[in-house]
Amino acid sequence: MKPTLVLVGRPNVGKSTLFNRLTRTRDALVADMPGLTRDRHYGIGRGGSKAYLVVDTGGFEPLAKEGIVAEMARQAESAIAEADALLFIVDGRVGLTPHDKQIAERLRRSGRPVFLAVNKGEGMNRALISAEFHELACGEPYVISAAHGEGVKNLLELVLDSF
Ligand code: GDP
Ligand code: MG
Repeated sequence: MKPTLVLVGRPNVGKSTLFNRLTRTRDALVADMPGLTRDRHYGIGRGGSKAYLVVDTGGFEPLAKEGIVAEMARQAESAIAEADALLFIVDGRVGLTPHDKQIAERLRRSGRPVFLAVNKGEGMNRALISAEFHELACGEPYVISAAHGEGVKNLLELVLDSF
């Protein structure tokens, strides 16, 4: 079984953009995963010599239907339970939100290793946009740009070293 990296964060922070970059969207592989549901998206990421499973969660996204919200939350919980590491993504342009704090609390309670990625950092002052995210107590905030690929390789090396 490959080590599993689970991407979490509130809507619109760039989880799927990062997922696509890490996996280069090998959607064919998705069909090979047992127990797949539409709420979790699996792919194979490669960093250096190591291959790992990447899971793009949608479970923290609010949806209109109560039953679906409950199902999404269950999916997020099982994704966290399967994780060897959690990559918590926040939006460096929007800044810290109350929802980020709630998610951080949940992730810290999981006891899994958490890496904090401050996304959308291209063209921004890294020290400035990352400063407020120390408050999440999810370790050092790493500024990345999922869309442009900046900082992604370095962060993934750190994550893979933890496996
Ligand atoms: P998700 O809801 O967390 O899966 O977020 P998405 O990957 O769908 O991205 C949400 C929005 O943020 C989209 O418009 C993306 O193009 C944009 N986005 C994602 N990554 C970056 C980034 O590194 N920089 C900027 N400026 N925008 C980004
Ligand atoms: Mg998404």
